[in-house]
Amino acid sequence: MTKKNAVEKHGFNPNTVFEDILAGKLPAEFVYKDELVTAFMDIQPITDGHVLVIPNLKAATLDELKPEYGERMFLVAQKIALAMKASTLASEGINFFLADGQAAGQTVYHLHLHVFPRFKGDGFGWKLPERYYSPPKMNILKEHCEQIKKTMS
Ligand code: AMP
Repeated sequence: MTKKNAVEKHGFNPNTVFEDILAGKLPAEFVYKDELVTAFMDIQPITDGHVLVIPNLKAATLDELKPEYGERMFLVAQKIALAMKASTLASEGINFFLADGQAAGQTVYHLHLHVFPRFKGDGFGWKLPERYYSPPKMNILKEHCEQIKKTMS
């Protein structure tokens, strides 16, 4: 997701914008708040109802995120997703999206989980690389699996 427009358009500092929101220095529409996480409306929604769930303690990227904050982010995102479906927004489906690092499309360096409603024909989609259409053999998957397992703590 390369969505730099809101940050560029409004001149927010991508390193501090969410801390400013948490501190009440910038306006936001809050959906939820507890001692660990806060959820508010994305200023540039992909679809109507697009929400961001963030840890109250700043973690720029995944390696800085404390597990209890990550757990709570997912639980709250799930609650919000169910509310989106039950609400008059009448969300037909839901996507969660989290960008960790520039290569993944992260533009604001305070980790956030996107939760956004999906509707048939809403125009959102993934641009998949050509390689996707020629899936690898199982031995290649095994090799990649081993690489990941080796560095998992
Ligand atoms: P990402 O590209 O995954 O880092 O997403 C950053 C998100 O933050 C984008 O969807 C922006 O629209 C959103 N955003 C940036 N500034 C604000 C703001 N002041 N209030 C709400 N959402 C914001």
